[in-house]
Amino acid sequence: MSEIITCPSGLTGRIRGMKTREERFLADRKLAKAGTQLDPILAACWEETLDPGPYDFGDNPIDWSKVLVGDRFFTLLQIRVASYGPDYTFSVCCDNRSCRAKIDWELSLLDLPVVALSEESRAAYLAGNRFETRLPDAGRRVWFHLLSGNDERRMTQLRKGASERPLSTLLHARLDQIEGVDARDKLKFIEDLAISDVTFLLGVFDRADCGVETEIDIECPECLGSQSVELPLDKGFFLPTKTTVSGRV
Ligand SMILES: [Zn+2]
Repeated sequence: MSEIITCPSGLTGRIRGMKTREERFLADRKLAKAGTQLDPILAACWEETLDPGPYDFGDNPIDWSKVLVGDRFFTLLQIRVASYGPDYTFSVCCDNRSCRAKIDWELSLLDLPVVALSEESRAAYLAGNRFETRLPDAGRRVWFHLLSGNDERRMTQLRKGASERPLSTLLHARLDQIEGVDARDKLKFIEDLAISDVTFLLGVFDRADCGVETEIDIECPECLGSQSVELPLDKGFFLPTKTTVSGRV
């Protein structure tokens, strides 16, 4: 079964569901470490480009390492839906310390909101993928870019040595230049940033980015407390078992 999808950037193409042979990409530990584990799946299941959107690959096939993370994730999600259907079930532990019940949650992946690349972002992306903003507390201008598959891979490598500093890793990967700060001092500058500036930046990134919203609200059936969780995506997402795909296996 193949179908036509349009990614948040406007990239449009024909995809198909996964075949048994693609299973090996999910089991390859080396690929997982490099953070490019899913690229072979994207390459195999993307059958044809109908509209390149903001990308220019000429006559070559899509280079997924250069595709925006929002488009990559959207496409993976659609491949998952084409392979196993839209229903996704996962379990999390209630964050209420006096409850801690196991919450089983089910949702349709097609219900996740999708944010399209804005006209403004598209223009800045086409003009060299350079975005500018000004940090209110530090009083400096900074320049950042929209993340691609390559950035994702680099961040995976950086995180290996700094798993307790995901914010620093993200900011280091996204900020290209800081007014009046030498490239060598970038990390130190980032670590000294006021949290108000970090919150501001994350908001700016959010407005510039396109993609699928993966933060969802769930309710505990035991204590009825609600919490917001990041959609858990593990190996089961692409290699479902009884617990991740209802009514299947
Ligand atoms: Zn609870």
